[in-house]
Amino acid sequence: MSYGETEAVRGIDLEVARGEIFAFLGPNGAGKTTTVEILEGYRKRTGGEVLVLGEDPATAGRGWRDRIGIVLQSNSLDPYLTVRESIELYAGYFSHPRSVEETIALVGLEGKADDRARKLSGGQQRRLDVGMALVGDPELLFLDEPTTGFDPSARRQFWDVIESLRELGKTIFLTTHYMDEAQRLADRVTIIAAGRIVAQGTPEDLGEREKAAATIRYRDARGEEVTIETLDPVRELNRITGEAMERGEDLDGLEVTRPSLEDVYLDLTSTAEGVAGE
Ligand code: ATP
Repeated sequence: MSYGETEAVRGIDLEVARGEIFAFLGPNGAGKTTTVEILEGYRKRTGGEVLVLGEDPATAGRGWRDRIGIVLQSNSLDPYLTVRESIELYAGYFSHPRSVEETIALVGLEGKADDRARKLSGGQQRRLDVGMALVGDPELLFLDEPTTGFDPSARRQFWDVIESLRELGKTIFLTTHYMDEAQRLADRVTIIAAGRIVAQGTPEDLGEREKAAATIRYRDARGEEVTIETLDPVRELNRITGEAMERGEDLDGLEVTRPSLEDVYLDLTSTAEGVAGE
């Protein structure tokens, strides 16, 4: 996908399985929204092939649109409609809508059904957005950065909503720049940076964290901080602690750490941005 001279997304290749929660992760400007909008049929791509539910989104018709739900980055709520009215309105756009009350319950807004959208908190408005996307009973749901700006407890509540969609067997294409969100929710994660895919895999094996060097830290007898990077932390720890015990010394503040997923993410995305900037 090019915008004039700028290649926003360059030769990316990805597959999402039915029933999967797929997280598409990357820093600002990486190309996430561009990609998602192409998949949703909102943006015309300048090259490549795309199939979503077996059809090309650029030419797919009403029947296809009926099978997908979309939650955009900015909400599209009418501030003066109540929660129930908003969801009823959207139900009218689909040929086989799910029940309005059931949808309200699914997104946890039972107590707010008669409140106007403008009276809801940011997190509740986002849940209403999801409700409006869900009332058409889509097979596939796109969520574009759904929890940006949420406080930690609102994010966890929203994650519960997504977990319940997993149980309904929905396929979810989730865009986020929160590593912990991807780790918590996703079956598979793809990281994009500067328009290219830099890593793909399950949250567990992403970046081959298990094979990365561990860092051992402690303070020696003189109180000086010692840091050791090692690919074999078990053997190294055995040596260090064995020697300390022979000398009858303690190892104050002893800790062993591996790079967190966040470290892996920052490492991968900063390398890619560096390359793109050259
Ligand atoms: P964010 O996390 O900030 O939403 P993103 O990963 O969704 O970022 P995109 O919005 O897809 O990123 O943008 C990718 C690149 O394409 C950016 O460099 C952006 O400036 C550029 N871009 C996006 N939309 C347009 C447009 N309509 N015209 C020109 N350039 C654009």
